[in-house]
Amino acid sequence: MQVALDDYVWAAGIATDLVNTAPEVWHGEEHLPDLASPATFAKLHSLAEPTQATDLRAVHRLRTTVRDLIDHPDREHLITGASALTSPAAHVTLLADSSRWAVSLRSGATVTDALSLICGVGILGVVQALGAERFRACGAPTCRGAFIDTTRPGRRRYCMPGLCGNRVNVANHRARLKRRDL
Ligand SMILES: [Zn+2]
Repeated sequence: MQVALDDYVWAAGIATDLVNTAPEVWHGEEHLPDLASPATFAKLHSLAEPTQATDLRAVHRLRTTVRDLIDHPDREHLITGASALTSPAAHVTLLADSSRWAVSLRSGATVTDALSLICGVGILGVVQALGAERFRACGAPTCRGAFIDTTRPGRRRYCMPGLCGNRVNVANHRARLKRRDL
């Protein structure tokens, strides 16, 4: 597998999706609960690397590491941490059509290695192109999710906009109705 070095939007999106599978984001419900979960998550993101029995714990560990980076968005901390995540990389190369820089995954790598490299490239790309202030906690009061904002204006507020954004809208709507009834 190769990860285009300028494709930080895709890579940071996978990092955000990964951290938001954690039980703390779902009121205790683990969204990567069993051995099949890392493979399912990888397939969802079109990654073809094989899964090993140790991948579940390794992916959970990776998720904790990435979450810690998003929660402590100090520039140096992000760069050091994300660089470490790229250790499954083999070499820097060009994509097949030689239009873009890319980094390839070392041979024999697993799903965890692929995800680690992707998260590393995504975080470094966002720090470089958009800045450390793009790493944030979800703005919904009841949500413990976090995200990396890769939108152009940088005004994203929720970890899962369809879910948390809607919840906030519904709560605001109810509050308005209640005020009107008083
Ligand atoms: Zn949220």
